[in-house]
Amino acid sequence: MNIHEYQAKALLRSYGAPVSDGRVVLRAEEAKTAAGALDGPLWVVKAQIHAGGRGKGHFKEADAGEKGGVRLARSVEEAEAEAKRMLGRTLVTHQTGPAGKQVGRIYIEDGSDIARELYLALLIDRKSSRIAFVCSTEGGMDIEAVAAETPEKILSFAVDPATGYQPFHGRRIAFMLGLEGKQVKQCVALMGTLYKLFTERDCEMLEINPLIVTPEGDLKCLDAKMGFDSNALYRQPDIAALRDESEEDSKELAASKYDLNYIALDGEIGCMVNGAGLAMATMDIIKLYGAAPANFLDVGGGATKEKVTEAFKIITSDPNVKGILVNIFGGIMRCDIIAEGIIAAVREVGLQVPLVVRLEGTNVEKGKAIIAESGLNVIAADDLGDAAKKIVQAVRG
Ligand code: GDP
Ligand code: MG
Repeated sequence: MNIHEYQAKALLRSYGAPVSDGRVVLRAEEAKTAAGALDGPLWVVKAQIHAGGRGKGHFKEADAGEKGGVRLARSVEEAEAEAKRMLGRTLVTHQTGPAGKQVGRIYIEDGSDIARELYLALLIDRKSSRIAFVCSTEGGMDIEAVAAETPEKILSFAVDPATGYQPFHGRRIAFMLGLEGKQVKQCVALMGTLYKLFTERDCEMLEINPLIVTPEGDLKCLDAKMGFDSNALYRQPDIAALRDESEEDSKELAASKYDLNYIALDGEIGCMVNGAGLAMATMDIIKLYGAAPANFLDVGGGATKEKVTEAFKIITSDPNVKGILVNIFGGIMRCDIIAEGIIAAVREVGLQVPLVVRLEGTNVEKGKAIIAESGLNVIAADDLGDAAKKIVQAVRG
């Protein structure tokens, strides 16, 4: 789960990391008071969306020359005008895709003067199964571009969980970033703070881009992106409360309410499968036969009829879906439960696209009989290859 910049900065502040003072506004009328509560003489007005690249992004239906979602203002009135300009509009950045994201919240922050812009991130390095620091002198930029063009400008290393963060880690980063004097001390402390926050709050990703050096020579976190392990939210209720549902894919959101492992993709074949491995194999075999999956969906081992019905509804609510493939291996899951779920769902939402069902395992005969007796227009398949071939054929004609 991701959170907004202003929420991440509040968390950073609560851990003692250096961030500017700021106010969030949800309505244009609040902007003037919010800006007035800050010192000035410089304000930054920042569109809050769960995507980076806002500064270089553009609004849909923007006038030529109108710039992105991070703007400097020299007065309270200017800050108010910028907030009004952004609220409710759709911001497109290289991370949002062409559809963009609607701006529902604005963060107005005390503006900082910048001497240097640096890059810093903490993330889970899956290769070493450790928390890794990534830093670079090339802050403010697209880190992917830095990695591709000048990889020598990136330092990355993992921290041994047995020792945890140690001051030498911070000094290594400070050296790489070319920090001097008091900045080294600040860096060692800040990295320790970030590591503590990362581990205590079950983060998956924490990116400060840019981490700046002010003209006075102090470090400050000017931007903050944080992601959290969804499986840990049960023990982080105050983090879970930061969720902004309007930022999430509505289908993924519905799926999470029913505890379904669903990920929206952009193909045309909706998949309902049990078990993550079988779901991956099903996606692969759809590709092998020349089509693309519209989603990953693992209904899980002990799914109920209600859960299956909900899963089916989520799949059919995707306008890209031109056909559905149900591929169930009944181990713990029983095939008759799946069959009942499918029928209940079709009765409720109808079936506008071809449906191929492949059932195998526990109660398979019962499941097949339930579907056969339902009178539904279902194409039965015997095995994985047969199922994929049939659904691709049905969709492609
Ligand atoms: P992003 O584009 O979504 O990554 O948003 P950022 O918060 O990183 O802002 C983009 C850029 O705006 C930064 O790289 C800075 O160059 C600039 N910026 C952000 N805040 C300030 C500020 O307080 N003062 C100044 N001078 N520039 C800022
Ligand atoms: Mg940034």
